[in-house]
Amino acid sequence: MSGFDFIAGHMRIIKSLRESIKNNMASHAYIFCGNRGSGRKLTAAAFARALNCTDSTDGDSCGKCRSCRQFDSGNSPDVFYVKAVKTKSIGVDDIREQIVEKVKTKPYSYDKKIFIVDMADTMTVQAQNALLKTLEEPPAYVVIILIAENLENFLPTVLSRCVVMKFRPIPAAQVRKYLTEKCGIDSHDAVFYSEYCGGSIGEALRLSEDSQFYAMREEAIKCLAVIDSMDTASAMLMAKDMEKYRGYPELFDIMYMFYRDVLCYRLFKSPDRLIQKDKTDEIKIQAESLDENRIARRLEAIMNTKKQIKQNAGFQLSVEVLFMTVKEN
Ligand SMILES: [Zn+2]
Repeated sequence: MSGFDFIAGHMRIIKSLRESIKNNMASHAYIFCGNRGSGRKLTAAAFARALNCTDSTDGDSCGKCRSCRQFDSGNSPDVFYVKAVKTKSIGVDDIREQIVEKVKTKPYSYDKKIFIVDMADTMTVQAQNALLKTLEEPPAYVVIILIAENLENFLPTVLSRCVVMKFRPIPAAQVRKYLTEKCGIDSHDAVFYSEYCGGSIGEALRLSEDSQFYAMREEAIKCLAVIDSMDTASAMLMAKDMEKYRGYPELFDIMYMFYRDVLCYRLFKSPDRLIQKDKTDEIKIQAESLDENRIARRLEAIMNTKKQIKQNAGFQLSVEVLFMTVKEN
């Protein structure tokens, strides 16, 4: 665990959190709202560590004091991670036992008693109402951070008592820099994951560690690279074989990006703008044999297949039809 400097992007949010620590003006309740993997939890952790750091500089934690060390080892006596105990959503008992009861007593060792509630948008209405009493009259030492994806799930009365911070997708260039510099990911892979992750570093990291995703991507691109030279029966066998990736809607994104890259290579005659740079050889061969119209028809077919599967069309049949359409075009 680290301070704010470990977080990519979200400059304005971090600046404002640091200012609030410097001036001892932290609010009692926040909602960190954004997609999964956008940095909400990391920011909440950095903020919590800085709030109780006994030697903070410029609004960030020192990483060395007793409070920081306790925080890093997960043993801070004054930081609480609230979660659903019995059901998937956070219920009224969870809030009563894990927040309402605990706010009554002062922090054990440090300035603030901090509650971090992940998936706070799953709180039931009763749970939110139970929390409301604390939000209305919070003891001076309490800071509650609600981590959420959807603001719409909160009661207006809860929303109005929280400082809402929106975590927007991080630009691909920034994700790429982070992946190569902080995570040691190979630069070609980083280009792909940064373009693919939708501005979420968490998602990029998750995919980069998912061996099934890696295998799926390899196989999907291999299929498209050879499909034109295959007879129909072999192409159908190949389509059947894709069944094992039924749970990966990303399959169609990969195929789409492949032809997007083929088109790109055809237009610019260079690998500079490719998303899947590590597949330049395969892309180049396709770009030399397919014209723009054929590529466009294949892109359209992939889009349609993805849409149909989303609307519950059979996976197997849809992939077979897709492969046929690709072959015909
Ligand atoms: Zn410290």
